[in-house]
Amino acid sequence: MKNQENPRRQFLGNVRRAVIKVGASVLAELPVARIRSFAADLALLREGGIEVVIVSSGSIGMGMTRLDLKRRPRQMPLLQAAAAVGQVELMATYEDALRAHRIPTAQVLLTGRDLDSPEHFLRLRHTLMSLFDYGVVPVVNENDSVAVDEIVGSDNDLLAARTPRLVEADLLVMLTAAEGIYAASPRKGGEVIALVTEIDELAARISEGISRGRVQRSLASKVRAAQTAAQDGVPTLVASGIRPGVLANMLDDETIGTLLLPSRLRRSRKQWIAEGLAPRGALHVTADAHRTLVEGHRSLQAAGVASAEGGFGVGDVVRLLDPGGSEFARGLVSHGAADLQQVQGKDPVEMEQILGFRHSDEVVRRDDLVTL
Ligand code: GLU
Repeated sequence: MKNQENPRRQFLGNVRRAVIKVGASVLAELPVARIRSFAADLALLREGGIEVVIVSSGSIGMGMTRLDLKRRPRQMPLLQAAAAVGQVELMATYEDALRAHRIPTAQVLLTGRDLDSPEHFLRLRHTLMSLFDYGVVPVVNENDSVAVDEIVGSDNDLLAARTPRLVEADLLVMLTAAEGIYAASPRKGGEVIALVTEIDELAARISEGISRGRVQRSLASKVRAAQTAAQDGVPTLVASGIRPGVLANMLDDETIGTLLLPSRLRRSRKQWIAEGLAPRGALHVTADAHRTLVEGHRSLQAAGVASAEGGFGVGDVVRLLDPGGSEFARGLVSHGAADLQQVQGKDPVEMEQILGFRHSDEVVRRDDLVTL
């Protein structure tokens, strides 16, 4: 089918990196078989050049089985304990399933607060980017030992919705037990909506509340996640994680799930780095560094920093100033002001000698930088 006839192809044809969220309901039954089936699909996606981050729930369910708990505990510490136990098995299952396709995996546990903290956000981002460099499929979950937001609230929907920005993904996939978002209750003959172009309108309609059942709440949470992803220009596909081959076919098969489109497509990094966050300092760069940065997609090295102003920390936004003092770029800085003062003008070997460690050779990585 030609592009203009198939909106899914038009919007999903160029996906390079996807965040795929696997809900607890999907792994409530047959978790091992389902994860194996996802792994087979992921191998196909990767053959097509698509990188993937998984955000997976399921630790509580697996922990309950392991601890022989017949019913979901009501006390939070016991839920957290079940999550801690189940996380081991959850990861072992992903590891096993992906290993069969020679795909390495990694466990990344985080909390909403980590995404709020500029430093944790940047360090997470760099870790995940390094995992991609090595062909790893990271599996993210909330660190339920220290946070309970996703246990109480949205079963990782919120965390998943914030992950596209973290890794610059261009698609969010929410796998759930339902086939997608329904126009009306399926029991009353409602069908899955194939395409949503007005996410906010749908969210308002849903929050007016059709019914307050568990499935409705879960789907409302998916629509809220799609709203968050849409702020970064990222489309969201809500689809059934029970349907075999869902991940392998989702980009082409228009009968799969509900696709929620953002009002404008991704110009995201520029938006949130240059316009969304308040700068906490400024770096004056040398003439050489200015030239390389404006000419190409390059990082700012410490050697290219002439001087720094402001009390910024790791992960804060800084303004980059040319030798004439004019701002020409903004970026997320990989070193705090105190460290940077010691290493400005130095090469990576000297940096390591001065700081005693080597976390990032660059002061602002090219992926964390936008020219204005
Ligand atoms: N992080 C939790 C898990 O992986 C969230 C899901 C839940 O509350 O059941 O199981």
